[in-house]
Amino acid sequence: MQKRIYLSPPHIGKYEQQLVTEAFVSNWIAPLGPQVDAFERELAEYVGIQGAVALCSGTAAIHLALRYLGVGPGDCVFCSSLTFIGSVCPVIYQGAEPIFIDSEPDSWNMSPLALERAFKDAEQTGKFPKAVIIVNLYGQSANFDPLLTLCQQYDVPVIEDAAESLGASYKGKASGTFGAFGIYSFNGNKILNTSGGGMLVSDDREALEKCRFWATQARDPARHYQHSEIGYNYRLSNVLAAIGRGQLRWLDDRIAERRRIFDRYVEQLGNRDGIEFMPEAPTGRSNRWLTVLTLDPHRCPLTPNQVLDALEQENIEGRPVWKPLHLQPVFAGSLYYPHEEHADFSTTVFTQGLCLPSGSNLTEEDQDRVIACLQRVL
Ligand SMILES: *Cc1c(COP(=O)(O)O)cnc(C)c1O
Repeated sequence: MQKRIYLSPPHIGKYEQQLVTEAFVSNWIAPLGPQVDAFERELAEYVGIQGAVALCSGTAAIHLALRYLGVGPGDCVFCSSLTFIGSVCPVIYQGAEPIFIDSEPDSWNMSPLALERAFKDAEQTGKFPKAVIIVNLYGQSANFDPLLTLCQQYDVPVIEDAAESLGASYKGKASGTFGAFGIYSFNGNKILNTSGGGMLVSDDREALEKCRFWATQARDPARHYQHSEIGYNYRLSNVLAAIGRGQLRWLDDRIAERRRIFDRYVEQLGNRDGIEFMPEAPTGRSNRWLTVLTLDPHRCPLTPNQVLDALEQENIEGRPVWKPLHLQPVFAGSLYYPHEEHADFSTTVFTQGLCLPSGSNLTEEDQDRVIACLQRVL
């Protein structure tokens, strides 16, 4: 059996170990510490925003943002459907209800048409969402101009779920900096990996201070332990922040490598009948976290599952596209707004799409193995 090729494995360089050693030598093996402070500062500077709070996960970051925006029982939140469930779980933690919005073909992200219809319906019922969570899928920014125009028109704040899109941009502005809050994830498979972690960012420093307070068990400023509110244990460890600082130094290289991997797939497979790759919207630059393609069922004899089986037989890990959240059993009965009245784009992408190995440490040799397997089966 040939060695396994993973979808998006960790890619750790020398800086990470140096910085972790610094954390050990200074004996800051703790939640909080100088590495955490530096990581927050350096990431905020990298994306060009006023402040950042390092947390134990991207999901925790969304949770704090929702709480700050006052989302609670009886409220609803408009959410992207074509994404990972971590984007929406915090809506449920807050006792609110998600309403799912479809994606559009150009960016695979939230459809302005569907969002507009959802707002129009809210106008009818008088029940407006407390927030809109907009995801940047597979490293590509959503189409923010029309989306933000709508949200501003209805005066509803936006949380930008940039968990997958650190380092990407939209019209030259960094992914994660478009909403009232932005969030990133540093989970093991993301483009910046601390084994697990996340970041909440905003230009509103006061809001960030409140979230930092909640994330640290809501400790009132007093020598003894005093609490007037309930918080969470959501902060990032100083050791993991050291890994994150090292990863951040490589980030531009990692993006270049992932984009090169994407380009090679397109070069070798792009002219095959029935195959299409996830487009890069002209409005932005994707970090190409994962290379994703779709198979047209009318022109390609194989389904994504058959292709994934063929890859698996050669010890290569692929994945289907995220199953849309409005199709998940746990969200059965939720409201859903498709892109067009009878065109459910996210379900189409789910049934036709698959993700290929895209790690920035994928060698040309290994990528050739993936390409050869695909050429054989397709
Ligand atoms: C990974 C991910 C999250 C959750 O991040 P965690 O750090 O794993 O909690 C949320 N949204 C999207 C789109 C993600 O890909």
